[in-house]
Amino acid sequence: MRIGVLAVQGAFAEHVTTLASIGVEGVEVRLPSDLVGVSGLVLPGGESTTMRLLIDRWGLRAPILDLARAGAPLFGTCAGMILLATSIADGDEPVFGLLDMRVRRNAFGRQLDSFESDVTVPILGDAPVHGVFIRAPIVEEVGPDVDVLSRLDDGRIVAVRQRNVLATAFHPELAGETRFHRLLATMAAEHQDPGEGAGRRPHPTRRGRPDA
Ligand code: GLN
Repeated sequence: MRIGVLAVQGAFAEHVTTLASIGVEGVEVRLPSDLVGVSGLVLPGGESTTMRLLIDRWGLRAPILDLARAGAPLFGTCAGMILLATSIADGDEPVFGLLDMRVRRNAFGRQLDSFESDVTVPILGDAPVHGVFIRAPIVEEVGPDVDVLSRLDDGRIVAVRQRNVLATAFHPELAGETRFHRLLATMAAEHQDPGEGAGRRPHPTRRGRPDA
């Protein structure tokens, strides 16, 4: 299986390495033709304003939307989360608008620019995820179809899922965490071959979301 990693800017290399560590080929995506044959896509951290410019310069917006609408899973980390949101607080136009939520960029302020914190993500099991937050966004509001996967101790939302689209405010790939990438690979396998997981695991698009 091949999973694309948007590689126009930012921390894409670490995602390719993390995918390799779980036996998945990560394909660097810079042009629409790089998306041919990928079963899912990672949108990495970086600078969302730069990434949005490059996405449009290289004609990637429409083919990435097509991929998502066909049901392939997407996973955005940090700036990638911002690219997926339907609403960005105080200004910027949404890019992909695939996750019904409002995010705020650089939400932790200067004193807490970057920090690391263990966060609990129940769908990934009991062991906490070590989250690296770097000028991270926060999710301020989610729509009814969005599953909240994780909150900080103060209640603020830092990981979400809406059907085939996942996003985290933090970088799991910078802390040796592989469970989000494994989840993405599982979702990609189910997308490729919907019969494969039948009976073992609910399809991610099924209503009722027993894994919420
Ligand atoms: N602050 C960046 C932005 O707003 C995101 C930072 C990151 O991806 N680590 O785009």
